[in-house]
Amino acid sequence: MSFQGDSYDRALARAAEHARAWLDSVAERPVGPSATAAELLAGFSGPLPDGPTPPEDVVDLLAKLSAPGLMAIQSGRFFGWVMGGTLPAALAADWLVSAWDQNTGMRYATPATATAEEAAAGWLLDLLGLPPGADVGFVTGATMANFTCLGAARTAVLSQLGWDVARDGLAGAPKVRVLAGEERHDTVDLALRYLGLGSPALVAADEQGRIRVDALTESLNDVESGTPVVVCLQAGNVHSGAFDPLEAAIEVAHQHGAWVHVDGAFGLWAAAAPSFAHLLAGAAGADSWGTDAHKTLNVPYDCGIAIVADPVAMRSTFGAHASYLISDDPGPGDPLEKVPEFSRRARGVPVWAALRSLGRSGVAELVEGLAGHARAMAEGIARIDGARVVNDVVYTQVCVEFGDDARTRAVTARLIADGTVWMSGSRWRDRDVLRISVSNWSTDADDVRRSVDAVRRASADSSV
Ligand SMILES: *Cc1c(COP(=O)(O)O)cnc(C)c1O
Repeated sequence: MSFQGDSYDRALARAAEHARAWLDSVAERPVGPSATAAELLAGFSGPLPDGPTPPEDVVDLLAKLSAPGLMAIQSGRFFGWVMGGTLPAALAADWLVSAWDQNTGMRYATPATATAEEAAAGWLLDLLGLPPGADVGFVTGATMANFTCLGAARTAVLSQLGWDVARDGLAGAPKVRVLAGEERHDTVDLALRYLGLGSPALVAADEQGRIRVDALTESLNDVESGTPVVVCLQAGNVHSGAFDPLEAAIEVAHQHGAWVHVDGAFGLWAAAAPSFAHLLAGAAGADSWGTDAHKTLNVPYDCGIAIVADPVAMRSTFGAHASYLISDDPGPGDPLEKVPEFSRRARGVPVWAALRSLGRSGVAELVEGLAGHARAMAEGIARIDGARVVNDVVYTQVCVEFGDDARTRAVTARLIADGTVWMSGSRWRDRDVLRISVSNWSTDADDVRRSVDAVRRASADSSV
């Protein structure tokens, strides 16, 4: 294969131009895409060309074909699902990660990116108030963070009963009992499914979606003694933003000898903001924590973080040479001992860049800003005739209903068609809701004002 020597120059220059044009456009373009996947298909597909195309032409073509189908997730008025934007330092670092092409599994082979990730891991544990000796793995998202942490949990609770799951597998093993709040995120179930642990037994939640400690206690009391138990808690409910009562739940779970995992995909970051850290009181007492960097921290996709307090549990699950009997000092370990992947990109480097760019106060301001804008949005929407905020707005999430399900769905559809904002329709506690997640660093007071106006316009139309 021979491309000319300056191919990188031309292709990268074109990519940078398209990237900047895209980023400049997100402030004013409609937030939603204007074409559907089906409409885009013809442009992207067709027969594979017989021969090569110059790289810069491929970049131009890709930008042109994609333009109508891009969602402006980086817009300050994108509030769909729970998705962050991209901090400038993190995006630029991500470009370098691709240019460097370091397969970040081993410290000796890729020392620069492995060390940057190690430093980022140390900063994270410090910012989030978690045990400094914990192992940190950079995975693709919170789903895989939950998977990784629960994999370590499976190893640990079975090993306490003398069962080596790495060597002997699950067939014939003592059955692991997994308890989770009824409003846990669906991906906890996925992680458990991948691990062969089946569906969790569900524990009742209160009206904000928080696990009820009395119900958890009852479920734990019902577990036959000697049964290996894992309890999955949640920091940040995708609808209400609510946090499980972590301190009390962890205490009762530990009294029963359970491993406690906390899914804090976007909520774990509250620990970095002094005025929200109380939501995570006691969280550091858990055994593992999963979070996302591509949500609250605003690094590019894909980046999640698996944190396990006991490096032995982590490395005997994911190290290629299983069943370590690491004693006092396991050392930093290689990146590939802390994630399911062997080969992977240096996805922790943009985390290093984001943290280095924000500093401690910047991370706190980021979290406080998101939550503050969520509160302002809820206050503005609550003043709209016929709109009702249905959750206690304690963090970054707001759920709204407009009288009845049909009307809520109609308002949501009009809002999305209007293009000023993107907010998702969802169903929570047996009703349709318009869900707003403030997760983008660039959202400002003007975005909030324009968004509340857009909701007012969509709800003023009384056709439904
Ligand atoms: C988003 C989310 C997940 C899944 O995270 P991905 O990054 O999409 O894999 C899990 N739990 C909670 C609470 C979430 O908000």
